[in-house]
Amino acid sequence: MRTTNVQESDDSQRRPVRRVVIAGGGTAGWMAAAGISKMFGKVVEVTLVESEEIGTVGVGEATIPTLVTFHRLLEIGEQEFMSAVQGTIKLGISFENWLDVGHRYIHSFGVNGKDHWSAGFQHFWLRGRAEGMASGYEDYCVELQAALQDRFGHLPRNGINYAYHMDASHYARFLRRFSEANGVKRVEGKIVEVDVDADGDIASLRLADGATIEGDFFVDCTGFRALLIGKALNVGYEDWSHWLFNDSALATQTTAVRDAVPYTRAIAGTAGWQWRIPLQHRVGNGIVYSSRYIADDEARHEFLSSLEGEVIKDPWPIRFRPGQRMKCWHRNCVALGLAGSFIEPLESTTIHLIQRGIMHLLQLFPQVVTRAAIDQYNAQLASELVHVRDFVVMHYHLTHRRDTPYWRAIGHMDIPDTLRHRIDLFRETGSVFHVPGELFGANSWIQVMMGQGVMPHRYHPTADAMSEDGLKRFLDDIRSNVLSTAGKLPPHMDYMRSYAPAA
Ligand code: FAD
Repeated sequence: MRTTNVQESDDSQRRPVRRVVIAGGGTAGWMAAAGISKMFGKVVEVTLVESEEIGTVGVGEATIPTLVTFHRLLEIGEQEFMSAVQGTIKLGISFENWLDVGHRYIHSFGVNGKDHWSAGFQHFWLRGRAEGMASGYEDYCVELQAALQDRFGHLPRNGINYAYHMDASHYARFLRRFSEANGVKRVEGKIVEVDVDADGDIASLRLADGATIEGDFFVDCTGFRALLIGKALNVGYEDWSHWLFNDSALATQTTAVRDAVPYTRAIAGTAGWQWRIPLQHRVGNGIVYSSRYIADDEARHEFLSSLEGEVIKDPWPIRFRPGQRMKCWHRNCVALGLAGSFIEPLESTTIHLIQRGIMHLLQLFPQVVTRAAIDQYNAQLASELVHVRDFVVMHYHLTHRRDTPYWRAIGHMDIPDTLRHRIDLFRETGSVFHVPGELFGANSWIQVMMGQGVMPHRYHPTADAMSEDGLKRFLDDIRSNVLSTAGKLPPHMDYMRSYAPAA
C-alpha cells in the first residue's frame, strides 16, 4: 500500500461527497451498503469492492435486539429475513461455568418487574428477598422465563424483546441483494494499493486487475486487515489485551442434534469460552481463548471433544487483538466492523457496533468532510465502545473461578475505573444508572452482576415505604403474571416452523 504523510487541509478545500466507496463485503460492508443506499441512494453513488478469493471472517451469527430496529429502518420484513438467513430467535445468553464450574445464569433481553418512580424494581425485590417473600430474580422477567422454557411468541401490548441467530454468509448475500436493488454497484477484485492524495485523503483503490476505483468518501470494511484506516492512513490502535486476555478463536459448524434453543450459549472453559449458536439448519460453534494460557492444539482438542453433532465445516482459526482504532473516522475514511474495533463476542455486540457506526455516519453524513463531524463521530463511537468493553470485562472480573492459570491471572486483573464505579455502586446501594446512548440498560447490568454473584448490601428506602402485605402482593402479582405469560407462549421450534424456508 502507498501512503503519503501530509498536513490536515482546511475543510473548505475538501471535495463534495458524491461517490462513496466501500472496501470489503463482509457483514460490515454489506450493512453499510444497505444503510447508505437506502438513505442516500438517490444523492450518492455507492460502489462496494470485495474479493471472493480473500473471503470473510465467516463468524458473527448471534445478534442483539437492536438489529430488529435496523431492519425496521431498512424496511426489511422479518419473514423474508428469517427465511434467507435460516434464522432462529434469541432471547438472551446462557452463561455457563462463569461464576463457577457448574453454575448457570441467563442474561436476557427482558426487563425484570416494574419500576417505581423513585427506585428500580430490584430494590423492592431485594427487600422481598430479605424478608423471605421473593423467589429468584429470574421469576420476574418474561424473556428470561421464556428462554428457560424454550418458548417464543409475539406479545400484544408491551411486546417481547428479542434478537436473532443467523447464518453470517447468508446475511451478507441477503444484504447484497437488498443493496444492489437500491443501486449499489459491486466490484469483484483484490485491492492491492490505496492511493492517498497530497492532502492526505484517500483518492482511489487500485485492484489486482489494474482497475482503479475513485471515490470522495471511503468506508473501510476490510476486516482485521484494515487496509485503508490502518495500512494507508496509519491510524493507530489502542490495545485492550490487559483487560481482555483472549486473542484467538476457532470456529466450526455442526449438524443439529436437538431442537434450537432461543438463546446463545457461552460456556466458560480452561482458558476462554465456547459459543453455541443454534440455527434452523445447523449449529455455529466456536472457542475463544488466550494463546498465552493454552496452546492452539490443546484449545482445538478441548473444542472438538466437546462438540455435539457432525462437523460440517473444518474448524478455521482466527487471531485478533482486542481494542479500538484511535479514531474510527479519519480524513475521508470511516472504519466499520473489524477494521475499526474488536471486543470479543461474549455479548454479541460487534454487529450492533457496526450498526451504531452506520447510524452515526448516516446522521452526520457529510456534504463535505468537516472536522466537527469527524470529532463528533469519534467521540460518540468511542464512548459507546468503552461502555461495551466495560460490560464484557465485568464477566471476567466477577468470576469466582480460580481453577486454572488463566482464571487465576484474571483474578489479579485490574479493571477500568468506570467499571469499578458501577460495581461498587450496585454492591453498596443496589442502584445502577444508564447514560443515554449506552447499549446496556440497567437491567442488563443487574442481571449479569447478580448472575455473577454480586448481591447488594442495601436497597433504596422507598421499598420500606410499602406495607408488608402490599409488597407481597406487588411481587406475587408480577411473578404470577410473568410465569403465566411465558407459559402460554408456543415452544420456540413451533414458532420457528412458521419461518421454514420455502422448499
Ligand atoms: P470480514 O468479514 O473479515 O470482511 C472483510 C471483507 O473485506 C471481505 O469481504 C474481504 O473479502 C474484504 N477484503 C479484505 N481484504 C481485501 C482486499 N485486499 N481486496 C478486496 N477485498 C478485501 N459479532 C456479533 O455481533 N455476534 C457474534 O456472535 C460474533 N461472533 C464473532 C466471533 C469471532 C471469533 C469473531 C472474530 C468475531 C465475531 N463477531 C461477532 C464479529 C463479526 O464477525 C464481525 O463484526 C462481522 O462479521 C463483520 O466483519 P467485517 O465485515 O468487518 O470483516
